[in-house]
Amino acid sequence: MKTAALIMAAGRGSRVADAGPSKQYLPLGARTVLGRAAQVFIQHPRIDSVQVVIHPDDVALYRAILDVPSPRLAAPVMGGTSRQQSVLRGLEALAGQGLDAVLVHDAARPFTPPGAIDAVLDALATGPAAIAAQPVTDTLKRVDGALRVIATVARDELWRAQTPQGFRFAPLLDAHRRAAAAGRSDFTDDAALAEWAGMAVAIVPVQGVNMKITTADDVAVAQALAAGPAMESRTGTGFDVHRFMPGDHVWLCGLRIPHTHGLEGHSDADVALHALTDALLGAIGDGDIGQHFPPSDPQWRGAPSHLFAADPVARIAARGGRIVNVDLTLLCEAPRIGPHRDAMRARVAEILGIALGRVGVKATTTEGLGFTGRREGLAAMAVATVLLPA
Ligand code: MG
Repeated sequence: MKTAALIMAAGRGSRVADAGPSKQYLPLGARTVLGRAAQVFIQHPRIDSVQVVIHPDDVALYRAILDVPSPRLAAPVMGGTSRQQSVLRGLEALAGQGLDAVLVHDAARPFTPPGAIDAVLDALATGPAAIAAQPVTDTLKRVDGALRVIATVARDELWRAQTPQGFRFAPLLDAHRRAAAAGRSDFTDDAALAEWAGMAVAIVPVQGVNMKITTADDVAVAQALAAGPAMESRTGTGFDVHRFMPGDHVWLCGLRIPHTHGLEGHSDADVALHALTDALLGAIGDGDIGQHFPPSDPQWRGAPSHLFAADPVARIAARGGRIVNVDLTLLCEAPRIGPHRDAMRARVAEILGIALGRVGVKATTTEGLGFTGRREGLAAMAVATVLLPA
């Protein structure tokens, strides 16, 4: 079923503030309301093309947020003086593309679950029109002009019509053309126009959040939703030591550093990445490097230690978390760390997939004291801070 999504962003009527852009261009997390609404459809595997309808005054705003080259995203169409006229202009722009179906969607609904798109498309297999909707959950009152309750309205037959609203393409275009020819411009959604045209319209219950941003309060709720779950900060520490042995290089922070000795170990003996791996695992309370990569396991013989450090990175991502920063201290008389510090920071940032500014690498001697002072081995300490959903 060849399907286009028509994203309606031409509205002007309900600015949430006296000044500033229309609500569809307000920031929402890293995107905007419209950018987020459109992306849901651009990324959906069953949508072949996305057509946005905008207000003629918003061309620059639109370019600033949706100037992403996507073969699925068509150049915007300019809307008309009413929502109904804007939809018709969008449909006319899509005519002649051999479409079987079209989903009309309000740009002010940025959280539509992909499953709702699937459900509407599934319903179109057996009928000409299907709309996303949610049941009314509040008790409804009919009131008089003085806000006195006249009656309680039974709600069991009442649903809130939302978008996306899906239609077989040709019947909807025909219905819109007939409504325009009949001088009708009062339909508040496309389902109402389709009902007027005699199309059977089915309700598709939506699971999850499908809110429409209308008021300033809605904007605040939407921004909290876009920010995601509340996060809590976790800290972990790690410590590791490896003994020097005959050799001509050591591995530190994922880099091969020429030296008068090597470091003894089952893997590449990168003490810095071992301490770091333990710090990250400690921050999420998920064991230690010896538990996840036992030295008794032959597959880790000579293994590059960035494989170990990548493991907690994946565990943190799987839990919806992210690394805030890591800090390493290397304890040794030699090799000298200073000349390699920037490269070490860059390599650690690369292994962890975080910005350079979130990685610290420091070094100290122990003034000739202890095993590091006697140059018997090299020690590393690490601390990591991680954000996890609370
Ligand atoms: Mg180790």
